[in-house]
Amino acid sequence: MRTAVYPGSFDPITVGHIDIIDRLALHYDRLVVLVAHSLQKKDLYCFTVDERVELARKSLAQHSNVIVDKFSGLTVDYMRQNNIQVVVRGLRAVNDFEYEMSMASMNKKIAPEVETLLVFASPEYYYVSSRGIKEVAMNQGPLQGLVPQHVEVALRNKFSPVSSK
Ligand code: ADP
Repeated sequence: MRTAVYPGSFDPITVGHIDIIDRLALHYDRLVVLVAHSLQKKDLYCFTVDERVELARKSLAQHSNVIVDKFSGLTVDYMRQNNIQVVVRGLRAVNDFEYEMSMASMNKKIAPEVETLLVFASPEYYYVSSRGIKEVAMNQGPLQGLVPQHVEVALRNKFSPVSSK
């Protein structure tokens, strides 16, 4: 069975992530969207790991071959435990490249059996990032077309002027 893992923070999942997943799901029997719970980044996440998993699951419910899981260690350890050899990452602009290249090289060093595939973002999603979306949400800006509707609701609740007081 051809399986790949697509790891990330997904804080929260965006239309950019979903585009990559829609495209990849066509080429794999099983695609694992792996929501990272890095203890180092714990205080930087906007949503808890379980909230991020839930938002991703709901966004991807139409895919019978996509599963959403969570993990708090190295992606390569998850891959070894689950016998997966392909990890996919999305590439937007040049600044993604440097980060992705060093991560792919590190993964190759510590787990030579792992292959990293980089997939270009569709041009219409180049500018979409979870970080940018949180900035917009924090300032009560429009989120339509950037995240699925239920994610928009979750962001509105998280950043509502009432709850942040
Ligand atoms: P991380 O915190 O690990 O960078 P993210 O959730 O921000 O996790 O992103 C997960 C993966 O999805 C990364 O490879 C990132 O480059 C990619 N990605 C994020 N946004 C987009 C987008 N708009 N189009 C394509 N790929 C994207």
